[in-house]
Amino acid sequence: MTRLFDDPTQFADAAIDGLVAAHRRVLARVDGGVVRATEMSDDQVAVVIGGGSGHYPAFAGLVGPGGAAGSACGNLFASPSAGQVHRVATAAANGGGVLLSFGNYAGDVLHFGQAQERLNAEGIETRTVLVTDDIASAPAERIDERRGIAGGLVVYKVAGAASEEGADLDEVERLARRANARTRSLGAAFDGCTLPGADDALFHVPEGRMSLGLGIHGEPGISEHDLPTSSELADLLVGRLLGEIPEGAGARVVPILNGLGTVKYEELFVLFGHVDRLLADAGYEVVEPECGEFVTSLDMAGVSLTLFWVDDELERLWTAPAETPAFRRGFVAEGRRRAFETAAGDETAQEDPTAASAAAGEAAAELIEATRAVVEDHEDELGELDAIAGDGDHGIGMRRGAEAAAAAARAAAGVTVAEVFVAAGDAWSEKAGGTSGALWGSGLAAVGRALGNRDAYAADDAVVAAEAFRDAVVRLGGAELGDKTMVDALVPWAGAVAESVAAGGSVADALAAGADAAAAAAVETADLLPKKGRARPLAEKSRGHPDPGAHSFALIARGVAARFGELADRSNHEGEKP
Ligand code: ADP
Ligand code: MG
Repeated sequence: MTRLFDDPTQFADAAIDGLVAAHRRVLARVDGGVVRATEMSDDQVAVVIGGGSGHYPAFAGLVGPGGAAGSACGNLFASPSAGQVHRVATAAANGGGVLLSFGNYAGDVLHFGQAQERLNAEGIETRTVLVTDDIASAPAERIDERRGIAGGLVVYKVAGAASEEGADLDEVERLARRANARTRSLGAAFDGCTLPGADDALFHVPEGRMSLGLGIHGEPGISEHDLPTSSELADLLVGRLLGEIPEGAGARVVPILNGLGTVKYEELFVLFGHVDRLLADAGYEVVEPECGEFVTSLDMAGVSLTLFWVDDELERLWTAPAETPAFRRGFVAEGRRRAFETAAGDETAQEDPTAASAAAGEAAAELIEATRAVVEDHEDELGELDAIAGDGDHGIGMRRGAEAAAAAARAAAGVTVAEVFVAAGDAWSEKAGGTSGALWGSGLAAVGRALGNRDAYAADDAVVAAEAFRDAVVRLGGAELGDKTMVDALVPWAGAVAESVAAGGSVADALAAGADAAAAAAVETADLLPKKGRARPLAEKSRGHPDPGAHSFALIARGVAARFGELADRSNHEGEKP
């Protein structure tokens, strides 16, 4: 339960503001997140981390000398947008390039990936190392698909220490990869967490039971057990982790016992005592361990255990000095405060629209508004569908995105079709977070670029727009037909739009035909197993249920077709074509 808050929608931002106020000696606030307040050495690599809020000390609490140079801070449990990552990285960069590091979640991968492309294009050399320590999230043969949880602390600390020592970008990247490869975690939860302002937890674990492998956003676990004693839980966690010893590991190991939000420190210490003994019994030398909170999940009742198998090089970096709000080691000399460069905004020249192109822009804004209305009507349903095998945020993420898009479209209405769609798309990906946010944002912006600024549009333009949306989503997300994503509804939709126009249909006819095709295809996704996105680790649970993103796409396709039909009727009566 979160009791103290003002406007729940502003909670994440307000928490970051307060964190910076409390740690002003180490942190500075920038648009999109935080950066370290003190100077870095010339050409020092900037390690930029980030993710959704609600996981403190991850991620902003791990920024400072010897730690990360900056953190992009998304909304609660939602990845930061590409724009946020780009702005934080630009502020943090100091001539030595940027290493982006974050947990392997589809939304983060998309947004950080877009930011990386942009930074590289602007001449700031940028690389990425994903954190993939959660052994519950995929089998060892598919280790690259695993999610990142508390092992992020290891990777960020090692990369931060390497950058502080003056290592170049190649070297910082190599060491971060090595740290990740030698880190394994497993978590267990006793009860769920509650978003600020929500009446109930996102999920519950039945009384007296424990869910093993439950994700930090409430992604369902791999097995349920009776609530164990502390020593039984230590046996289970240590046993499973020692079943996955990384290649080349020696006899020195760093255990990190992490509380997820509401497990008391004394409980953690009791558990840690058992973990320590078990590791000694297994012949390990325990090196510089940690026991406390490093990656939480709001007020989730749960713990995770991370093992990091060190060698000399990794041990030196792990034990090097650091001063961040939540993680300190050794002595760090007081640094001078730093001045920041911030990313320049996009200066898009506004053309003066003709009356006809402004009217078309108004119509475009109405379609975005119809999208928002559909999402609002179905928010709960979309969240519930996503909770079956995903993280339950599809409703709230789509609402944040669609509301921001509708507001931006309203503000831009009376301009051109291109500007309305581009503004809507940018606002959507900026505010929504999540995978779907990045995809919808880039899809809408692509529609805007494809339609451009004209006085009149013909039926063929509907095909151009539909294909631009489809291609942008496929290019960014990389999903194929049958992967159980929105692409499975999107491709048939664009196909039906094109077919209808080729057969002489109007735009209204084509959108209606597209909506039928999308609805049928979304229903059929129930038979598929997900291969992309957060639902993948729990693929089996999703069988029998449609994909959330395909379902929301079909609902929106229907709503937009209906709204376009009304607009067309209205303008036919007025004697003009929309
Ligand atoms: P997240 O997965 O980050 O929690 P959402 O819950 O908002 O984001 O969206 C989930 C939906 O995103 C999925 O149901 C799926 O349709 C879509 N999706 C996930 N990954 C991809 C991808 N790579 N390409 C296309 N669509 C995807
Ligand atoms: Mg989701």
